[in-house]
Amino acid sequence: MKSSLYNQDMYKYDVPEDSLWESTQGDAVVNTKKMEDSNSCDVAIIGGGYTGLSAAYHLAKDYDIDVVVLEAGHIGWGASGRNGGFCSVGGVAESSENLIKKYSLEDVRSYYQSQVEAIELVRSNIIDEQMDIKIQGSAEIQVARSKRNLEEMTEHADFQRKYLGLNATVISKENLKESYFDANEQWGGVALKPTFGLHPLRYANGIAIAAIKNGAKLFSDSEVIDWEKNNGSHYLRTKSGTLKAKYVIFATNGFMPEYLLENFKARALPIISSIITTRVLTTEELAAHKWQTDNPVINSRKLVNYYRLLPDNRFLFGGRGSSSGDQAGAEKNYNYLIKVMRSIWPHWSNVEIEHKWHGFVCFTRRLTPSIGRLDDDPSVFFGFGYHGNGVNTSTWTGLQLAKWLGKYGNNNQIPRNLPNLVQGLSPKFPLSALRRYYLQGMIQFYRFKDAVRENRS
Ligand SMILES: Cc1cc2nc3c(=O)[nH]c(=O)nc-3n(C[C@H](O)[C@H](O)[C@H](O)COP(=O)(O)OP(=O)(O)OC[C@H]3O[C@@H](n4cnc5c(N)ncnc54)[C@H](O)[C@@H]3O)c2cc1C
Repeated sequence: MKSSLYNQDMYKYDVPEDSLWESTQGDAVVNTKKMEDSNSCDVAIIGGGYTGLSAAYHLAKDYDIDVVVLEAGHIGWGASGRNGGFCSVGGVAESSENLIKKYSLEDVRSYYQSQVEAIELVRSNIIDEQMDIKIQGSAEIQVARSKRNLEEMTEHADFQRKYLGLNATVISKENLKESYFDANEQWGGVALKPTFGLHPLRYANGIAIAAIKNGAKLFSDSEVIDWEKNNGSHYLRTKSGTLKAKYVIFATNGFMPEYLLENFKARALPIISSIITTRVLTTEELAAHKWQTDNPVINSRKLVNYYRLLPDNRFLFGGRGSSSGDQAGAEKNYNYLIKVMRSIWPHWSNVEIEHKWHGFVCFTRRLTPSIGRLDDDPSVFFGFGYHGNGVNTSTWTGLQLAKWLGKYGNNNQIPRNLPNLVQGLSPKFPLSALRRYYLQGMIQFYRFKDAVRENRS
């Protein structure tokens, strides 16, 4: 039965999100239409975000496989067309120490190296496919809120360099203020390389166009409403057509229609993330906070904020979204985000906010991505759960799934370079109908902790 964890306002596939990205897409147009009648292919992909598009691109380009993508909205309608555009290291929500205990240092190191590789994969996609996208910055700046915070971050940066092979350098309080920006709540930080900022919807469009150029077929406005398997073939049904396929890649991340297949029930916890963007800031306004960097930035609040100055000098500021996704709750949440932004950047208090939007990021119970093929039906592949990161991780996941299917489609071999910590389905969430509510309790608690800290400083 069709049911969703969040308010139906979150699943209006026929309405593009009112984001800055939608209104600045540029000239590259993805030519797609709705699927009609009966169709067939070797590989069907459900979901036209980075995971699905990257898989389609590589299946068509590297393996010459007949592949079709079915997307419920327009291409990039989901998180891939709405995110903050940070192409950065991440993808897990568990500490490295805990991951090492569970998997091994070698596995965790290999995961983080694959994260760096994934960033370079996105960079080369943009360059090779000549996408009209500005690659902005070279590091993610992680801002400490207090002296103690900086000490913890310094220790972690040492650990990242020594054990994970990452390029993390400490920025002193003075250096941050003089060379990056001067705002409230900053006590130095860490620069983690590589990272860059991009226009997320242009990137989704770019991979879609490249996939089509290489022979993939992409259908938009084609929500899969039913999935059946008969005589070894999958049948995916939309309102206006059917697709028969030998293999299916399930690539719907936080917008997951888990009712389609029992195996995916209660495997994911979608969480809403929200973004606001200002009008173009003037040179004087930027100087008021000594803004001098094009690097993407995150802070060390419990409910992390992420921000960057866009190529046209608009400021993007993001953070945790509303609890249910209904319009009233979303408005309240945007106002909260505006308040937080203005408390950090008081000289921009009167700067108008032009766009506000939100979408789902996706958590798993084991707090690492979930990439694999089903044990009870190896013709079904999946990739989801990037924990608020995904520009690089989902692009990389799509490539891994394409390699896996392209090379080992007919046997059960697992690609050698896939770290254990991302392999297979994550365990189900207990009391799955209540997933959203226990998350909400945690968010309220963290908001309280952030507020207490704000009042103290
Ligand atoms: C506000 C926000 C900010 C973020 N910021 C960043 C960031 O700065 N950096 C970063 O790395 N990551 C960020 N992320 C996360 C990142 O965007 C995602 O991890 C990534 O886009 C996931 O890609 P995907 O293709 O797996 O999923 P999505 O892009 O969500 O695509 C899934 C698609 O599946 C489609 N779908 C669902 N059900 C069906 C169905 N039944 N039939 C057909 N299609 C269906 C949906 O319409 C959707 O388009 C952010 C996310 C959000 C929401």
